[in-house]
Amino acid sequence: MPDGRLLADAASTLRAGGLVAFPTETVYGLGADATDPAAVRRIFAAKGRPADNPLIVHLADAADLDRVAARVSPLAAQLARRFWPGPLTLVLEAGDRLPPETTGGHPTVGVRVPDHPVARALLAAADRPVAAPSANRSGRPSPTTAAHVMADLGDVVDVIVDGGACVVGVESTVVDARGPHPVVLREGAVTREHLGVDGAASDAASPGTRYRHYAPRCQVLLAEQADAATTAAALSGGGARVAVVLPEAAPAPPGVEVVGRFGDPSALARDLYDALRRAEDAGADHVVVATVAEVGIGRAVMDRLRRAAAA
Ligand code: AMP
Ligand code: MG
Repeated sequence: MPDGRLLADAASTLRAGGLVAFPTETVYGLGADATDPAAVRRIFAAKGRPADNPLIVHLADAADLDRVAARVSPLAAQLARRFWPGPLTLVLEAGDRLPPETTGGHPTVGVRVPDHPVARALLAAADRPVAAPSANRSGRPSPTTAAHVMADLGDVVDVIVDGGACVVGVESTVVDARGPHPVVLREGAVTREHLGVDGAASDAASPGTRYRHYAPRCQVLLAEQADAATTAAALSGGGARVAVVLPEAAPAPPGVEVVGRFGDPSALARDLYDALRRAEDAGADHVVVATVAEVGIGRAVMDRLRRAAAA
């Protein structure tokens, strides 16, 4: 936990319209005062983010929901009670205190209360809703350590609060909570199983999901767990520089850089973006990633992996 003085400085920076990168349980966020249009425009400029891609608004406490939402549906109240603080973003009708910059011009707003002691202390001290997308350059893998933020945005943020590595590692589940049933717009660590919603694909596309995402500066290839090492070895034998992300037990192929190991799908979620960044740091042409089953958090992992591989 960073000391109180550093958090107080970071909160003052937010109140003065500055940009503060901070840890959450999912990924690092690039925060600005959600009610200050000029501050929010700085987020879009820093990330190189398309203006119609809406930001998630972060609150210290669910009791602040009516500061940002025009109407809190019974479903939203129920999901907030059950999953907040936590990795679930609720899409609701936007309140009129939020500028169009924050909502990307949409009539709705995505809101969440993060489950991270540093994020919650910072949000409480800032005493205002904080818009915070992932603290990466648009299109890059999301940051799960302060070093990742530094690498992408070190020259444009005012403060980076270092709270160690994120424990979830993939972005929040996004759910449209305006109607009677949750509609999953983006998969995350609050799973369809938790929500009691089935279906293999997203019910509807979230505005941001059509943009290029999660792409490192090397080609991402997916392989079944049993084939990942041999796929990587074959590419390496053909003369390419190859990195690989493997299950714990798989033997490392010679001549291939192992940039990540995972014991289960949630470990892969936690370490995936770090592994992709390690692969590019190693100068790899290709990174082969062993896949996981599409159940539970495996759905979110495979969603991010497919987008990374398509980029
Ligand atoms: P990021 O924080 O970088 O993961 O980006 C936030 C993402 O949350 C957006 O790209 C959308 O996919 C989703 N999101 C935020 N606000 C809304 C909203 N009002 N409606 C639907 N999806 C949203
Ligand atoms: Mg993002």
